[in-house]
Parts: sequence; C-alpha cells; structure tokens
Amino acid sequence: MTDTHPTPLYILSFRQRDELAALAANAGWQVVAARRAEGAERRFLHSGSAVAVIDARGALHEGLAAAEALNGAIGSNGGAMLALVSRGDIEAIARFHDAGATHFLASPFSETEFVQALRFAARHAERMAGEWRASAPADPLGWRFDLRGGTMQLTPGFARLLEVAEDAPPRVMLRTLDRSERRAAFLALRRLADERAATAFAHDIGGIGRVVQHLQHDRKAQRIDALVEPLGSAPDSSAAMREALAGARDAGGARRWVERRLAAGGPLAVVLVALNRFEVVNTAYGRAAGDALLRGAHRRIEEAVRETLEKGALIARMGGSEFLIATDAARARIDLAVERIAGALAKPFVVGDSIAVLGCRIGMAERGDAENAATLLRRASEALADAKASDSATLRVADAGEEDAPVDRLAGELGPAIDHGEIDIVFQPQVSMADGVIVGVEALARWEHAVLGTIGADLLFAAAARADLEIALSDHIQRIVLDRAAAWPAVLSRLRLSLNLTAGDIARPGFADLFLDRIDQSGFPRGRLTLEITESGLIEDLSVASALLTVFRQAGCRIAIDDFGTGYSSLAYLKSLPLDYLKIDKKLAQDITGTARDRVVVRGVIDMARSLGLSVIAEGVETEEQLELLAKEGCQYYQGFLCSEAVSSVALAAMMETRA
Ligand code: C2E
Ligand code: CA
Ligand code: CA
Repeated sequence: MTDTHPTPLYILSFRQRDELAALAANAGWQVVAARRAEGAERRFLHSGSAVAVIDARGALHEGLAAAEALNGAIGSNGGAMLALVSRGDIEAIARFHDAGATHFLASPFSETEFVQALRFAARHAERMAGEWRASAPADPLGWRFDLRGGTMQLTPGFARLLEVAEDAPPRVMLRTLDRSERRAAFLALRRLADERAATAFAHDIGGIGRVVQHLQHDRKAQRIDALVEPLGSAPDSSAAMREALAGARDAGGARRWVERRLAAGGPLAVVLVALNRFEVVNTAYGRAAGDALLRGAHRRIEEAVRETLEKGALIARMGGSEFLIATDAARARIDLAVERIAGALAKPFVVGDSIAVLGCRIGMAERGDAENAATLLRRASEALADAKASDSATLRVADAGEEDAPVDRLAGELGPAIDHGEIDIVFQPQVSMADGVIVGVEALARWEHAVLGTIGADLLFAAAARADLEIALSDHIQRIVLDRAAAWPAVLSRLRLSLNLTAGDIARPGFADLFLDRIDQSGFPRGRLTLEITESGLIEDLSVASALLTVFRQAGCRIAIDDFGTGYSSLAYLKSLPLDYLKIDKKLAQDITGTARDRVVVRGVIDMARSLGLSVIAEGVETEEQLELLAKEGCQYYQGFLCSEAVSSVALAAMMETRA
C-alpha cells in the first residue's frame, strides 16, 4: 500500500458489510463493499482492486460460491483473495484454497489482525504483478509505452508473435485481442492509471496459448513497461489438454478454448448437459444446497468423462445448471461418454437429509465446415432445447451445418435476461474524416448470454419481436444508455451520443414526452444527443413522424436518418423532414470501391444529402481505401472497424486517452 493514494479494496460480506468496510476505510483503503454475490466478478474487476475479501462468517456456502466466482478474475489479474471464516468452519479452509483464496483469517479476530491480513494480501498481489519481471529472460517478450510521446515499442519477439510492426500503436496490439480480453487489458491499464504501480492481465495468443502481461507504471519516467509471460504451450499440445482437464472453466474461458481448438483445425464436438429439475431443488432447499448439487453433478460428469474420453476433453460450467464438454475424440467414444454421463446423473443425489432424483438432457453438435465457436455452441444449445422439449429423448444431436437462428429459444429467455442485467451496451466511435478525431459514438445493444456468449443486436431484436417485448427492451436499453453516458468520465465529456429509436418507439403515443423526461432524468445533456431513425421507422406516417422529430429537434437533440440506401430510400421525402445527418448504410458505403456504376450511386446520395444541408456519415468503413474515396466524395464522418468496433465505456475512455 502506498502512503499517498488510497488503494482500492473489494469486500463481499453477507452479514457484516458495513463493519468490515468501516475497518478497512479507517486503515486507509478505498473500499467497494457488497452484501450480495450477484455480479461479484464484474464488480471486483470494476473496483480496480487487486485484493478481494470474501467474508464467509456465518455464510459458508455463499462464501465458497463467491470465491469460486471470483477465482478466474483474481487469477488472471494477479490478485489476492482473503477469506474470512468462522472458527467452527475451519475445516472448510481447504475448500477456500481450492476455490482460489490466497489468504485466510478465522474468527474471532481483532481489528489489527484484519488490517494486517489485508496488508499481507496486498503485498502478495504486488509480487504477483511484479515478480516475474525479476526473472525475465534475456530475449524478453513485451513492450514499452512512452506516455509523454505516446509512442509504443514492442520487443522484436513479441512483435513477431503478434505479427505487427515493432512500433505499432497500442490500438493495433489491442486489435489482436478478442472483445473480453480487450476489456481485461483496458481494465488493467485503468488500474495503472488510477492507483497502482503494477498489475497484470491474461489473454490468449494464437499459436502459443495463454499468456500473462505484467504491467509496470513508472511514474517518474512516464512510461508503462510490459513483460509477457507464456503460461501454456501450443493449443493442441497435451499440456494444454491437461490444463483444460484440471478444472471446470468458466463460460468465457470455455468459448475461447473452443475457438482456439477450431482455429487449430481437426475434429471437435461440443456436448451441453443440463440438469433436470435443478430449479425445483434450488428453490425448495436453498442456494447452498443447489450449489452443493452442482458440485456433485460436476464431479460425476468429470468421472464419466475421465473414464471414456481420457485426456482429450474440456469440462466447463456454463452458468445456470448447464455444463459443457468439448472434445476431439471419435464419435463412438463420445456416444459412450454421453451414455455414462446420463447414467451418472440419473442416480439420486443426497441433498441435506433428503434425496433428489434429477437426470439430465443433453445436446450435442459436431463442427461443420468453417464453423466458429458461436455457431457450434448455438447448434448444441438448439439440440439441447429440442431434447428438453421432447418427452423421451435424453440426447439430441444437431444436424450438421444447420444454422437457423435460435430465435424461438431466445425469445423465451429474453424476459428473464432483461431482469438479470444480461443486456449490455457498447459504443462505436464516429470519426471526423478531416482530422481522424473521434467526435461521437453510437450506442449498440448486446446480449451477454450465459451459454452462447455475446449475441448481436439483430438477433436480440428479432427475439424481442417474437416475444412481444420490443417496447420493454427499448425502454430498458434507453435507460441504460443514458445512465451510462451520464456517468462518463471527463475524457468522454465532449462526445456526442447516438441512440437508435425503433419504429415501435415512434409509433408509441406520448413517446416524445416520455423520452425527453427520460433524458432529463439521466442528466445527459439533450444537446449532445443524436437520435437515429431508419426510413422504415418513418415511412408509415410521414406527418406524425415529422411532428415527432420536430419536437426532439426543438428540444435540442439532432436527428440522423439511418441505413440510408437499404430500404425504400427516397431522397424526395428527406426534404420534408427535420434532419441533421444522413447515415449511408454499410452495403452502399462499401460500394465506393466497386464498379463505376456503384460509385455513381454513392456519389449521388452524398451530393444530394449535402445539397439538403445534411452531414453525411458513412457506415461500415473497413479499409483505408474506402475511407479515402468516401472522403473525396464529401463524406464528413465515418463509423467502422477501420477505427474500432463497438466497445465498453471503459474501453472507450482508454481509447480516447491513448489517442489524445
Ligand atoms: P445500425 O444502426 O446500422 O448499426 C451499425 C451496425 O453495423 C452494428 O451492428 C455494427 O456493429 C455494425 N458495424 C459497424 N462497423 C462495421 C464495419 O466496419 N463493418 C461491418 N461489416 N459492420 C459494422 P449491430 O450492433 O449488430 O446492430 C445491428 C442493428 O441493430 C443496428 O444497425 C441497429 O439498427 C439495431 N440496433 C443496435 N443496437 C440498438 C439499440 O440499442 N436500439 C435500437 N433501437 N436498435 C439497435
Ligand atoms: Ca444506427
Ligand atoms: Ca445503420
């Protein structure tokens, strides 16, 4: 702990949150404290803390479950976990150790003992982040970022590994990471910027597997040094397999593993196992009993897999009561494994002093040609849903290559997903072509699904339409977008925010008042808001739409017409609407590099828009060539992967900082 800065500390205490928080705060920590385990991992990561305290006194099972939930985040961020347990539960210490705790303290303990335990844990975390530096090899993997000059220098080895130039800017390096890994990277950078001199995060690199980046912030020299430590070996080596088998992974880790295996080529099958009637037991006997049941089921699955698939399989908990097994074993072996698993889970479980018979349903999919993790898992989930829907079948195998969007299944899950906070918002930068400055962002919705991972907006809205939840979803999204943006840090305080309105919103009686109230309640300034509306949202009743847009415009918002060039695209009605921006749809924008004829259309649209006094935003810009040609034709702004995909607020803030 440094003397000058309070160090952040995450505390989860089911019974004595306030007392513990006060103790730690008195000792100089900046405390983020929670009484409930929901979202613990996310809160821990956001707290910027390297130390988590799990107070399991009088709440052993909840405490263990929370420790397990935080295990991955602590491990991959080089942190420490202090478990507080009742003296009577002392035999549970070993289980906390297995769940990732690095330190423990048994009650009763004094204030001083608690504070000292925190200091020990903090030192452990500092060492975790810094230690590896001391033993760095002669030809290190890593990079150095000069905060004054904004320049980046990668070691030759690391540049080769990532296949980027040695002086590639940070965003190029970040682009080699997947979305969740990038988030981990941004959070680590933020920890460095906020308080800490050293931290770490972990990610995968194709070809060498998992690595840890140990970061050191040298404030005097104004630079960040990173050393990269490979953890595993090649994805198809038996070491990686052993590592995979060593324990259940979380859903994110499992998806990444599947992705890597697919990239490495060869056969792969995924099997999803869902416990029957788990919810009933969970409700009747309580969470602790439910958790014990899941651990029991997990052990039985592990045993069945070990006996049949030997070392070639990964097992992971996918959230809820679903488990995933991924394997490259031959089909006959998998069939055997499935049979064993079904048999093992059909045997009764002992819950407290009762006996529960659960059984399971199983869905399986084998990789198709050129398939990615998301579609493979989605097919397995669909097969599982079919098995659940059938009266008799325990197992369903997905048809090869079947790719139907699981809109029906998702529709059934959307209501609870909204309540459970699974809908997330990401922001895609809008860039001024003249100078490359990010001037605004568009808010885009995502569904962070426990099994399927991130689900895009198109599928999300299709599910909402099927479930008749369009208005509920729209309300929910608008609220979170405005709340998030209202809480943005200073680096984002000049950005405009674009929000998509649906045709359903526009058709809703009283929408203008409701929405303006919502903006004002959030505290986000009306004048920085742009509302995006598609042509199909307007075309139904032009005069009603026009009146509504006029109200918004007079209230200070700007209006963009979205997806221009896809639907009924008529320039004629643009004249009768109060508009500020025209967004050229990505299909049309990308035509700029097409045939002469394609180009004429794009050029015509841009000219017309400009003659109506509208600013033109090109969507889906992916290459420098597209950017250059669109700029030449008079486009002023662009959005697209060339600058960035949509990212979290935190990542956006980091992006603005590195670009500044
Ligand atoms: P949109 O408003 O046209 O959003 C742009 C879409 O293009 C986004 O897809 C974005 O991820 C994608 N995109 C951005 N840059 C590129 C690029 O360089 N290349 C390619 N190929 N694609 C790019 P997303 O997020 O899947 O959204 C799809 C549509 O769903 C959106 O189209 C929008 O109409 C709707 N939508 C998304 N979020 C929301 C929301 O929060 N509320 C409402 N009402 N609609 C939303
Ligand atoms: Ca849009
Ligand atoms: Ca669009």
